[in-house]
Amino acid sequence: MKVERVLLKDYTTLGVGGPAELWTVETREELKRATEAPYRVLGNGSNLLVLDEGVPERVIRLAGEFQAYDLKGWVGAGTLLPLLVQEAARAGLSGLEGLLGIPAQVGGAVKMNAGTRFGEMADALEAVEVFHDGAFHVYRPEELGFGYRKSRLPPGGIVTRVRLKLKERPKEEILRRMAEVDRARKGQPKRKSAGCAFKNPPGQSAGRLIDERGLKGLRVGDAMISLEHGNFIVNLGQARAKDVLELVRRVQEELPLELEWEVWP
Ligand SMILES: Cc1cc2nc3c(=O)[nH]c(=O)nc-3n(C[C@H](O)[C@H](O)[C@H](O)COP(=O)(O)OP(=O)(O)OC[C@H]3O[C@@H](n4cnc5c(N)ncnc54)[C@H](O)[C@@H]3O)c2cc1C
Repeated sequence: MKVERVLLKDYTTLGVGGPAELWTVETREELKRATEAPYRVLGNGSNLLVLDEGVPERVIRLAGEFQAYDLKGWVGAGTLLPLLVQEAARAGLSGLEGLLGIPAQVGGAVKMNAGTRFGEMADALEAVEVFHDGAFHVYRPEELGFGYRKSRLPPGGIVTRVRLKLKERPKEEILRRMAEVDRARKGQPKRKSAGCAFKNPPGQSAGRLIDERGLKGLRVGDAMISLEHGNFIVNLGQARAKDVLELVRRVQEELPLELEWEVWP
């Protein structure tokens, strides 16, 4: 187990976030010890806005045995989803194609029920192991209250591993479907971001609303509404959380949009 003071900006895809004590755990025993004081769990940091003041709780990151995977058995929650999507395609196993391009860890993808219009994480699950109240419990997906980009994990629950529901399919078919998903993602900014910043209001697109208001390119410090996609706030280099929040505030002054990201603390 490694415990170190870090800046969370180095652990989030937006590249923003202040100090925290990072607990990198590699075994189930270490996880038990790490959770003996208040904690948060970090996945790949791709849906987080961490404030500049940092977070007071321990931040737990899953490594070691939590990154081991067997596509036909247990998959560690610390495994990167993009890696799994590619590996499944290579093995001729279908079920993850719709998740192509989502830069999550498996645990974070379960917690957020990450997905696209081509499919979501919950569809690909057979069982989920969650650590809570000092023990490891296995749940069926129906027990975890999955909905649109959300789940209902037990309080303090940490997803530790999952079993996937994948079907054997010809590789060409899987690759064709992945190419389709990839085409639909074209136009997403390549700069540092945390994915879509705002929730889509029912039947509407937040990105289109932002574009129609002429807000693309709006900038505070190094935080900017992407010119390519109205619903992406990108970090041009040295953005701070306060810049991002001010940009969010300016958008919300014009439009009644709800933030999609989780804000820490
Ligand atoms: C370029 C880009 C494109 C994106 N595209 C999409 C998309 O198409 N569809 C989509 O749904 N999302 C998308 N996202 C958002 C993001 O990838 C998802 O929300 C993803 O599920 C977050 O996973 P993560 O591992 O990064 O979690 P984090 O951002 O690290 O954490 C998110 C939440 O999950 C919790 N968490 C993390 N790991 C665990 C665990 N093991 N157990 C319990 N809780 C845990 C955290 O505590 C936090 O509450 C995109 C993001 C980026 C940057």
